[in-house]
Amino acid sequence: MDSSQTETRQRTAWHTLEGEQVLADLASDATAGLTPDRAADLLAERGLNELTAQERDPAWRMFVAQFNDFMIWVLMAAAIFSAIEGQMPEAIAIGAILLLNGVLGFVQEYRAEQALEALQQMSAPTATVIRGSREIEVPSAEVVPGDLIVLEAGDRVPADARLIEVGALRMEEAALTGESVPVRKSVDALDDEDLSLGDRTNVVFAGTSVAVGHGLAVVTETGQTTEMGRIADLLAAQEDEKTPLQLELKTVGKRIAIIVLVIATAVFVVGVWQAWTLIDRPSPAVALAEESFRSSLTVALLIAISLAVAAIPEGLPAIVTVSLSLGVRKMASHNAIVRKLHAVETLGSTTFICSDKTGTLTRNEMTVRRLVVGTDVVDVTPDDCLEAHDHMPSAEDRELLFDIAASANDARFTADGELVGDPTETALIDAARKLEMEHVRHKRVGEVPFDSDRKRMTTVHDIEGSHVAYMKGGADVVLDLCSSALVRGETAPMTDVLHEQISAVNTELASSGYRTLAFAWRELGAGESAESEDIERDMVYVGIMGLLDPPRREVKVAIEESHSAGIEVAMVTGDHALTARAIGAEIGLLEGKKVITGRDLESMTDDDLYDTVEDIRIFARVNPEHKLRIVDALKRRGHVVAMTGDGVNDAPALKKADIGVAMGQIGTDVSREAADMVLADDNFATIIEAVREGRVVFDNLRKFILFLLSCNMSEVLIIFTTALLFPVPALLPLQILWINLVTDGLPALALGVDPGDPNVMKHKPRSAEESILTPRRQAQVLWQGALITLAALGVYLGAYWGWIAIDAPGHLQTMLFTSIVLAQLIHAFNFRSETRTVFSFESLKNKWLLIAFGGSVVLQMVVIYMPFMQRVFKTQPLGIHDWMAVVIAAIVPTIFIDITKIVLARKRGLRT
Ligand code: ADP
Ligand code: MG
Repeated sequence: MDSSQTETRQRTAWHTLEGEQVLADLASDATAGLTPDRAADLLAERGLNELTAQERDPAWRMFVAQFNDFMIWVLMAAAIFSAIEGQMPEAIAIGAILLLNGVLGFVQEYRAEQALEALQQMSAPTATVIRGSREIEVPSAEVVPGDLIVLEAGDRVPADARLIEVGALRMEEAALTGESVPVRKSVDALDDEDLSLGDRTNVVFAGTSVAVGHGLAVVTETGQTTEMGRIADLLAAQEDEKTPLQLELKTVGKRIAIIVLVIATAVFVVGVWQAWTLIDRPSPAVALAEESFRSSLTVALLIAISLAVAAIPEGLPAIVTVSLSLGVRKMASHNAIVRKLHAVETLGSTTFICSDKTGTLTRNEMTVRRLVVGTDVVDVTPDDCLEAHDHMPSAEDRELLFDIAASANDARFTADGELVGDPTETALIDAARKLEMEHVRHKRVGEVPFDSDRKRMTTVHDIEGSHVAYMKGGADVVLDLCSSALVRGETAPMTDVLHEQISAVNTELASSGYRTLAFAWRELGAGESAESEDIERDMVYVGIMGLLDPPRREVKVAIEESHSAGIEVAMVTGDHALTARAIGAEIGLLEGKKVITGRDLESMTDDDLYDTVEDIRIFARVNPEHKLRIVDALKRRGHVVAMTGDGVNDAPALKKADIGVAMGQIGTDVSREAADMVLADDNFATIIEAVREGRVVFDNLRKFILFLLSCNMSEVLIIFTTALLFPVPALLPLQILWINLVTDGLPALALGVDPGDPNVMKHKPRSAEESILTPRRQAQVLWQGALITLAALGVYLGAYWGWIAIDAPGHLQTMLFTSIVLAQLIHAFNFRSETRTVFSFESLKNKWLLIAFGGSVVLQMVVIYMPFMQRVFKTQPLGIHDWMAVVIAAIVPTIFIDITKIVLARKRGLRT
């Protein structure tokens, strides 16, 4: 946005103006809003509705940052050192490899960043606006002054706006004013220009959210000129959090760096000592004798340096980030949008999933299937006829039932005639339409809005001069507030017998899986407030509607799958216990476990809950605070808990859970912002899909981390032992760099995208505390590194002692070099499975690994046989006998590694 324009524009005290005045000033309209064209013009003129546009590092800076690393500096120094010493090819090659390393690092980081950005885009906030008389969803960033915004419970307000319509609207403004109690809003103009923000009751502010109720407002300020924008500088920049794994790698990396630096120093000291002794002890087998002490010193230094650079896993964090963000992308393609990177890791260790019922386990396609008018039960047949069980209720009684259903209802028609709103409510309108009992909604003069704590809503209407309260809600809740009932045209007192009779009908409906809503009414006395909960008493019961919401087809299979994966699933719902039980049984969730209600939960202490929570599979009639207690108890039990939620009040439970899961379709903005993951399709099965993906990602991370570490281990051991035993450098610095970059790097990347074990969902979840480098795995790294070292040393010793014909020192190095390369390439296949032998076709199922293998072998050939590369890498062509020795040395370690793997897996009882 043009800042000079922003500053010079006079700030208007919008709250002092009448609503119509604001609309007129902004050339908007109370029903049509802006035209789409006008909105587009305004967007171009005023800029995006964003606080300080996130300054992104330019690409070049990201590239330069790749070289800002201690180890890279050391290597650069080495390159310069070589150049001064006159070893130009060496210097150029090190420089080239450094550059290549930088480019690779840059590409990886850039891609990771892009993936994360795409992700943010996907979960970017949206707003509902009315433009050209049509209600549409737009990205919040595209909201402009003059836009009419539709506000509903749980919505995040996209921009500052003047209210022009409110329905029991209360705003959560703590983010801006610190006020923790929701603020009641109205549309009346205020006269004091300098009111504090908290007292401007006719405006809503960007960044705050709707606690209850609904409203319509016209946007007055966007982006930087909003009240939030004015204090934006005070808001802490969002830090990018590290995942537990990234933190572990950071510590591990540091520890390795220290160990390796010690070893490298030792190698250097030994090198110096040997160069010293070489001066008067020239070896006949080695052509080093003529070289000066000085140049051997150079070699010793270079070896020590490149050893250090080779062994320190400085590339790991980058690959880990890339893998995690690839996982994120994969999950997104399965409708699971991960908002926090750590969720990718945590998902894989999930042990308990608490899921909503409506819309997540069920389809959220509610239809009214049964009516209870007074005490008479009537079926709504699939072809929309009424069929009485024994007595058809009078038309008037039915009329009243549908009158309440139409008026105590927030569903509405868009300009296109599309019915939108809460599926429970649209179902009522739908039924009325089909049964030809559609009612005009009475003018609302007040309301006590619905929330999942109250499980009911009441609206107040002006009907022919008198105020009438209409109530609808959970049948048990509503019944308790009724003191009389309309039965067959007569209003009778609610006797115990009658109460019993109606409850019995309700129970019968609920236990067949119906969601039951009861309807009641009352004429209000003069002077009764239209907005207070006090009016919800002495109601007259009118009837009940039974709604069916069939389970999603995929859910049953998904629950079976989670059971075999060692994950428990519980239903947490606001619905009636019997309804929940019927659905739970149908989808195979109950399995003989317990059902409890919110009321039971309240009578339990935290310790009681701790004792029984694992035996409960259905929590019915719960409210959001109960969810918090459930998460707490499960976490205390050591579970990694995923909890779903859609309402405003669910945010605390979502935050508390290890994985908070929000709904992309029916969820509120507030719940989405609190969540770690959003289900684009609201589907339970998607959670299981994400868990599977999370497990695969974690397995793959472990695969390439262990692969890289064991390879580095072998390199360190080889250089260290040969440096101690022999006066000739076993590997030249450039060769070490080559191994690290090409022949380790490519297979590691391939392991990072491994298709994964087809049985991932047949194992128990890994323990959440389990780090990658357990003592067992550390031993494994050491053992595997040692085996590769021994085999390579075999070749080296054989040649050194003359068993293998060697004509030049370069020849010996080339053999050692090639056997390590090949041994590591074969070793990569060991990691495809932790339990199955490498000598099966399973090993060949990662096509990227095959490509990495083939590619690396070809590159190695180029280095050995191409004259130019021979000069650079100081290699010699290998003959057929050399190759035989090399291949044997490369395969032998994997045979031993495979045998130990199988034996240990058997011993630990893993299936092979
Ligand atoms: P869930 O989504 O887990 O089924 P909710 O918290 O949305 O539960 O709803 C809890 C209960 O409140 C429902 O069982 C129903 O009886 C009642 N209810 C739900 N929606 C409405 C509504 N729009 N108006 C009145 N009552 C409702
Ligand atoms: Mg709900």
